[in-house]
Amino acid sequence: MYIADLAPYSYGLGEGRFVAGTACVGWLNGSSASPRSQGSPSSQFLAALAQLTWRWSVNQARGNHVCTLCSELHDTFLILDGGPKMLLGAAELWVPSLDYSVIFVAPNLVYHYVSEHRYAPPNAFVDAVLGAEVAYKQWDPRAESEKLLNSAFV
Ligand SMILES: [Zn+2]
Repeated sequence: MYIADLAPYSYGLGEGRFVAGTACVGWLNGSSASPRSQGSPSSQFLAALAQLTWRWSVNQARGNHVCTLCSELHDTFLILDGGPKMLLGAAELWVPSLDYSVIFVAPNLVYHYVSEHRYAPPNAFVDAVLGAEVAYKQWDPRAESEKLLNSAFV
């Protein structure tokens, strides 16, 4: 499912519902109707994004999405430090901006989009990912994402 970068999170919530205070990042698809910025990620950002994906993927779904930018549809994985591998596309990353003014929500496939397709997410998201380990000491992504998702229904 395509959602424009920085639009509020609405995935799976039903007609007209969204989560206030959120900003989507990396909800891409392969159609020309979904333009994306491209660039070369820093190795520091890629490493932080890999750790975040590995340790803090939340809002786990039953099925998984495949990348529609790849020429052939196939499952995509994150392989951490040459070790264990994790299937991507079935969970999300919820990351507060550095000043907590907005919560970024990305499908965890964003790691694949950045590493394989040179997708360049908004700079504020890059900063948030680099700061996430510190933020998560006081902002638990599992509890907070659940709370925010529930807020779409009040
Ligand atoms: Zn791909």
